[in-house]
Amino acid sequence: MKFIDNELQERLLNFYKGQGKLTVLTGAGLSADSGIPTFRDKDGFWTVGSVNYMPEEMGTYKMFLKQPLDVWKWFLYRLGICSKANPNVGHYAIKELEDLFGSRFQLITQNVDGLHFKAGSARDAAYLIHGTLEYSRCGEGCSDDLYPYPNLPMEKGDELTPEQIETLKCPVCRSYLRPHVLWFDEYYNEMYYKLDSSLRAAKQTGLLLVVGTSGSTNLPVRIATQVLNSGGFIIDINKHPNHFSDMASDKMYGYALKGSSSDILPEFVELFKGFTKTI
Ligand SMILES: [Zn+2]
Repeated sequence: MKFIDNELQERLLNFYKGQGKLTVLTGAGLSADSGIPTFRDKDGFWTVGSVNYMPEEMGTYKMFLKQPLDVWKWFLYRLGICSKANPNVGHYAIKELEDLFGSRFQLITQNVDGLHFKAGSARDAAYLIHGTLEYSRCGEGCSDDLYPYPNLPMEKGDELTPEQIETLKCPVCRSYLRPHVLWFDEYYNEMYYKLDSSLRAAKQTGLLLVVGTSGSTNLPVRIATQVLNSGGFIIDINKHPNHFSDMASDKMYGYALKGSSSDILPEFVELFKGFTKTI
């Protein structure tokens, strides 16, 4: 084992023998190995007319109300990237952990790309706390129903035809649909983003594996805090120091493993597989 030392192996064995749940919390760093950009780096802007907008401006309800079709073009471009992407070693390792732990496994993801499900992860064990690009819903909120995401993957510079624009409308009230994702100027809630149930899942967690997320949004940090308050521990897996690696820097609370999730996660699969054979 290159990343998991003897001391951590011992701790993981104790966790495995106990009743606590394994919760995996994933963010953009996991999907980076599948070629999905974070959309938050310096090249992540989107041009409308002659103006460059940053994701923090495009991915807002405010912008959607002003320029719904420009927001849709950006989100259909993101669909184009995600629909071409394939799960990577990290996604498959998480699916293997799910198989090993069965009902003791929970997945919480900030990723909207659907790659966990392409890798075979079960939807009913997953909390999609930032929504998903697999669904849309009424932009006016005329009902809570989810509709399929419009299947119109676009390239930069493509324009929408009048027929395509029709498919972006709510079948009930004919106002524009919106992507089923949490925007930067919106708040978490239970109905769409599993605010309460993901915190309840954190309470039952013995080990939280935090994979490729920096803790720049509020709910993931609350989830990690809840795990610690309930007696669990955290392992942060990230190429870069971040809020979670800080939280895990004291051995009482956990461990920070620095590197790629594609390199590190298979070690956990191997280790836990070994436990299932010996215990
Ligand atoms: Zn509607």
